[in-house]
Amino acid sequence: MSYPHGAELYRGKAKTVYATADADLLLLHYRDDTSAFDGEKKAALSRKGMVNNHINAFVMTRLAEAGVPTHFVRLVGPQESLVRRLSMVPVECVVRNVAAGSLVRRLGVTEGQRLAPPLYELFLKNDDLHDPMISEDHALAFGWASAADLKRMRELSLQVNAVLTPLFADAGITLVDYKLEFGRQAGELLLGDEFTPDGCRLWDAGSGERLDKDRFRRDLGGVVEAYEEVARRLGVDLPAGE
Ligand code: ADP
Ligand code: UDP
Repeated sequence: MSYPHGAELYRGKAKTVYATADADLLLLHYRDDTSAFDGEKKAALSRKGMVNNHINAFVMTRLAEAGVPTHFVRLVGPQESLVRRLSMVPVECVVRNVAAGSLVRRLGVTEGQRLAPPLYELFLKNDDLHDPMISEDHALAFGWASAADLKRMRELSLQVNAVLTPLFADAGITLVDYKLEFGRQAGELLLGDEFTPDGCRLWDAGSGERLDKDRFRRDLGGVVEAYEEVARRLGVDLPAGE
């Protein structure tokens, strides 16, 4: 890593978080590591960190242009981005446009069923408990988020959907579902973490081919090639020869 950084603060399943000389900024290093099923299945996939770092930068920039406040500051290396340091809300916000994944398993509904209006769900970010689904009342009762945070998280999650659904549709991709994380800095709630094919479902609009982490979950192969295809279709510039 060429960008000057301080201590390693946290090593997650896919990214490592470093301090920087500025107490309000963090360095996020996107590793090639990938995991599924709460970390039970793991692999290192060459180029994944670089591709995800660039897809995230592209998406976060489009969101900021549309008025969504995000933590993203700028790319500082092939696998590194500078972000504003947040106090994270330990709640994952999921938006669904099409039924898939845990929704289908939980409710027995048909995979591929369109959801209009989109469905918004909350999960507690806790791998040991397998990220259980929660309601806004759980978040309030246990102090995971305030009423104002919850209102803003819902509003921003759906605003993200209004921006990204057409962005992906124009690239011939159906944005099926995605997970967002938010955090606070100086009293403001910002979109944090990442928006990459690791945290959303992207289906080719014509064939339904999976272009996201389900390729890894289901051993379909071609995981990073699919992420690169997403980048190519969105018009994301990837560094040559990386
Ligand atoms: P996980 O913790 O789920 O294994 P990652 O490997 O992606 O996930 O680790 C990144 C960690 O950094 C996550 O816990 C995420 O909540 C946290 N994070 C993301 N953005 C920020 C930010 N701007 N400030 C502080 N923490 C952040
Ligand atoms: N997701 C995520 N991290 C999680 C849980 C879910 O990024 O810890 C994403 C997942 O990739 C999908 C969406 O959130 O795009 C909805 O996930 P779901 O609840 O269907 O769970 P899954 O079956 O993917 O575990």
